[in-house]
This record gives sequence, C-alpha cells and structure tokens, in this order.
Amino acid sequence: MSLSEDFRLPVACPSCGSHLMRVSQVKNPDDQVHCASCHRFICLWHEAQSVLRKGPGSESEALIEKAVNRGA
Ligand SMILES: [Zn+2]
Repeated sequence: MSLSEDFRLPVACPSCGSHLMRVSQVKNPDDQVHCASCHRFICLWHEAQSVLRKGPGSESEALIEKAVNRGA
C-alpha cells in the first residue's frame, strides 16, 4: 500500500459534495484520484491537474463529470 496525499479540488465530489481528494504521493499522471471522505473515484491525476489549473467553473465541472461517469 502506497502513501497518499490529500488536496483540495475546485470541483466537488458528485456523491458527497466534499472538495477534499486523495491521490498517491507518487502522483503518476494515470494515478486515480478518489474522494477523501466517501472514497468514490473522481478522475485521474492528470485530469485533476488541469482542473487545478483551470480553477472552478463549467469547464472544470464538465471535465470531472466526464471522468466520474467513465469510472476507473
Ligand atoms: Zn465524496
């Protein structure tokens, strides 16, 4: 089991509304990002990075919605 790190995502988890997400400390582009409170799959790390760059907004929400629906 690898160590993980929490970070705040501008887009909330669609299941519980939390902004706190968890990713492995290695942070490979294809590492999965999960909600820190309900552990739902949210997106991959490279997708989280573009959301962090874009900040909150419809573009970020659309990106996360697509990733969540695609699943792991
Ligand atoms: Zn959640």
